[in-house]
Amino acid sequence: MRGVLVVDATTVRAWIERATTVIEAEQDHLTQLDAAIGDADHGANLVRGFRAAVGALADSQPGTPGEVLVTVGTTLVSKVGGASGPLYGTAFRRAGKTLGTSVELTPDGLGQALQAALDGVQGLGAAVEGDKTMVDALAPAVRAYHQARDAGDDVARAASAAAAAAEKGAEATIPMQALKGRASYLGPRSVGHQDPGATSTAIILAALASVLDGTAP
Ligand code: ADP
Ligand code: MG
Repeated sequence: MRGVLVVDATTVRAWIERATTVIEAEQDHLTQLDAAIGDADHGANLVRGFRAAVGALADSQPGTPGEVLVTVGTTLVSKVGGASGPLYGTAFRRAGKTLGTSVELTPDGLGQALQAALDGVQGLGAAVEGDKTMVDALAPAVRAYHQARDAGDDVARAASAAAAAAEKGAEATIPMQALKGRASYLGPRSVGHQDPGATSTAIILAALASVLDGTAP
């Protein structure tokens, strides 16, 4: 594998571009998941938001990883209606702010950014693990990232571990009853469906891992 050597603004931008491509490819799937327990707009919401974020990055050409993430977050907040816009927007903004003005994103910096994203989502949405939300993908991903780093893994392997944990976490939402967000209005009828937001979180983290380990096209 040809992993990246330096994680800078260009790398982080490549992540957002890759995430946009994959979200576009998964749009119908995300729509179907949201049709089952929500209002069928999650795929369209994310495509609109990430396309706008790619456009904002092309316009402003941010020079640091932190600035890239803050730009993405601000764009998502302003362009995505629904719960996921403010939640993802806050996640990216908090992650970006944590990184300050560093030109290079270190492995530990990425760990702090992921933690800040999770804290931002939970601070805004008050969901805990088991509530059948994006937290069920993001929280195990953050844990897996830290565990991998503690075990000596490099940034690409740690990101892959995070992505794998997020995917597992998203699948684990199927038997859960939603306690937060629109799906919670369904009560027990929300059981048996995978949460759209947890699924998109896993997709976004898989895009990150693929950029860092060099497997993204
Ligand atoms: P909306 O529910 O407003 O239509 P989306 O369909 O874009 O917005 O996003 C739905 C997703 O948002 C859910 O699948 C869930 O993962 C996430 N979500 C909703 N409420 C919360 C919350 N309070 N905390 C964390 N995530 C949430
Ligand atoms: Mg929806």
